[in-house]
Amino acid sequence: MSIKTIRLKPGKEESILRHHPWVFSGAISSVPSGLEEGEEVCVVDNAGRVLGTGHYQIGSIAVRILEFGVESLPDDFFERRLQNAFTLREGLGLIRPDNNCFRLVHGEGDFLPGLVVDIYGDTAVVQAHSPGMHYARHRIANALTLIPGARIRNVYYKSETTLPYKARLDPENEYLIGGFDGNIALENGLQFNIDWLKGQKTGFFVDQRENRALLEKFAKGRDVLNMFCYTGGFSVYAMRGGANRVDSVDSSSKAVALTDANIALNFPEDKRHTTFATDAFRFLNEMEKDKYDLIVLDPPAFAKHRSAIKNGLIGYRKLNGKAFDKIRSGGILFTFSCSQAITKEMFRLAVFSAAAKSGRKVRILHQLSQPADHPIDISHPEGEYLKGLVLYVE
Ligand code: SAH
Repeated sequence: MSIKTIRLKPGKEESILRHHPWVFSGAISSVPSGLEEGEEVCVVDNAGRVLGTGHYQIGSIAVRILEFGVESLPDDFFERRLQNAFTLREGLGLIRPDNNCFRLVHGEGDFLPGLVVDIYGDTAVVQAHSPGMHYARHRIANALTLIPGARIRNVYYKSETTLPYKARLDPENEYLIGGFDGNIALENGLQFNIDWLKGQKTGFFVDQRENRALLEKFAKGRDVLNMFCYTGGFSVYAMRGGANRVDSVDSSSKAVALTDANIALNFPEDKRHTTFATDAFRFLNEMEKDKYDLIVLDPPAFAKHRSAIKNGLIGYRKLNGKAFDKIRSGGILFTFSCSQAITKEMFRLAVFSAAAKSGRKVRILHQLSQPADHPIDISHPEGEYLKGLVLYVE
């Protein structure tokens, strides 16, 4: 079957020539008849010059370019891209006897728009965000097991919630290769139960690994509140860092159970840790002042789309305001936003307004971001989403 061609309107090739991988539907002059969602398609400019090949999709992003300047993809496309992604992670020193969980594929950041792969020991959890990646899932799964040195034996496909609903693909969460053979992964020598079957996203937030390691260094002798704890990542590091006490809060009772299990796995019988299944704002409103001198605020994205930026910023301001009102003097606040639509500057301004309103003297100690296994393609700045601040509150 020969590959079909999409032609752009005059002048609409600029961003593709700069290697931005998204082709918006408004830039397209003609879509060939019979082009199916998820199909590979070649994109040409109005004069017919080849710009690249990618996956077609119905929606505002019509094509996600996988390779620039080519008319079709080579047969070993996925093998090569996944090998490159693995080589990068090896070079980052993420694959060690005491660390076997990391992100192998971060969508556009690994030149694989629409695909996310997280590795937990010998299991890869694959998420497709585009129909094209959904159709390629078996090729991707095979290619994963072929990466020399990666020792991936099980591939779990988890795209029920990530694929566009309108595409009607009805994906099933299932093992494409292998099956369940244990779910304990190691991060910086700490053990974590990863629940890719029922957990959020791929089961664990590997993107906070380095920020958790930084928190460990601040934890000694402190009373820690880990708000929005999910699997308890920050709590487990705080415990190892010698915290005096660690309280973990999440509104989801499943999350709280995961945190309890991870604490028990690493620190059985340790009485320093307590979990609370309750709403964050409620907990912060009701808690007494000066109870904690190390607080983590790692909420879910308050602004998932540009239209939600304003309300999102109000949310961040309120949340951080509560922490400033209650944190002990000399306290440390780790505060995050994972909203892609909210820039570093906007987030900083929201936190600054909260600090100003509280009347506390606040200094920035560290400015945090996503780790190197979540790379940002310089042509695709939208790939930057995680931002954080470590603050010293006088
Ligand atoms: N810090 C975690 C990730 C947090 S994800 C880590 O390092 O892995 C965000 C978490 O916030 C989810 O577990 C979700 O259940 C929880 N959550 C969402 N809304 C909440 C609310 N209003 N109050 C408390 N927790 C909430």
